[in-house]
Formats: sequence, structure tokens, C-alpha cells
Amino acid sequence: MRKSVNYIRLEFPSRSSNEGFARTAVACFASQMDPTLNELEDIKTAVSEAVTNAIVHAYPDSIGTVKLKARICAGSVLEITVKDAGRGIADVEKARQPMFTTGGEERSGMGFTIMESFMDALTVRSVPGKGTTVTMRRRIASRAAGQR
Ligand code: ATP
Ligand code: MG
Repeated sequence: MRKSVNYIRLEFPSRSSNEGFARTAVACFASQMDPTLNELEDIKTAVSEAVTNAIVHAYPDSIGTVKLKARICAGSVLEITVKDAGRGIADVEKARQPMFTTGGEERSGMGFTIMESFMDALTVRSVPGKGTTVTMRRRIASRAAGQR
């Protein structure tokens, strides 16, 4: 395990009203890394996609628990883990393909693709019937004082 410098843990029910809270809370936590506004927007978008998936897909007909951890690792890397104990994903490789969705008309199947492109690394671990853990990493470039 990477040595973590600082971290937060959040736990909340899979209600859509908590998506905005989770996104903003992670952005507030990440702000101590002195990110650019663009970096913060990327991180918020990725968190939003991961949390929305837990809310919409993990617990389609019920309210379950979503656990989120954000930590700052050595080397100025932000690591975010979003974990649910929901339905799980039968074929993760397939689920990660652009435009693959089980969500019907109102979903575009781009969530994982967005997480992948906005973050430096994405891992998805899932066991059908047991739940899904999504881990994302993003390095925050250190900025020289004159570049702000
Ligand atoms: P969009 O994110 O564009 O609204 P989407 O959620 O269907 O659409 P992805 O976020 O890429 O697209 O997810 C692809 C598919 O993976 C989902 O349709 C769903 O079948 C499955 N999936 C994703 N996250 C979870 C999860 N936490 N639990 C169970 N299934 C999931
Ligand atoms: Mg999605």
C-alpha cells in the first residue's frame, strides 16, 4: 500500500442528493494540494461519475451504502476510492467500453470512459452480487509560484 499523507472517509446512503455533496467534499479536500481549477473540475467530474454509478446501478431498486475515501499519497497523487456493496458488474472489461450501458435510453455509457480520461489511472474491481470498488488516481502537478 502506498504511504498516505492525509485522507478522508465519507459514508452516505445512495441518494442522488448526496452526489453533489461527495463531489464538493472531495474538491474541498483536494484543494490543499493546490490544484488548478482545471484539475479540480476534472476530479469533480470523475467523482460525480463514480458516485452516480453507485447510486444508479449498484442499488437500482433500493438504498444502499456508498463509501468514499480520498487520500493524498506521496508524490502529490490524489487517490479516490468509491465502494458499494451493490449488484456488481458481470463483465468489467465490457462495462468499461465507451457507450456500453445497461441503463437504457437515459444513460450514454460514458461514465468509465470519462473517469479514465480525466484521471491518470482507473481500476475497477467487482464481484457480481457483492459490490464494486472503483479506484482513481490523479497526480497534481506542483506549480512554481510565478505560474499562478
Ligand atoms: P453514463 O455514465 O454515461 O450515464 P452508464 O452509467 O451506463 O452511463 P458507465 O458509467 O460507463 O455508463 O457504466 C457502464 C455500465 O457499467 C453501467 O451501465 C452498468 O451496467 C455498469 N456499472 C457501472 N458502475 C456500476 C456499479 N457501481 N454497480 C453496478 N454496475 C455498474
Ligand atoms: Mg455512469
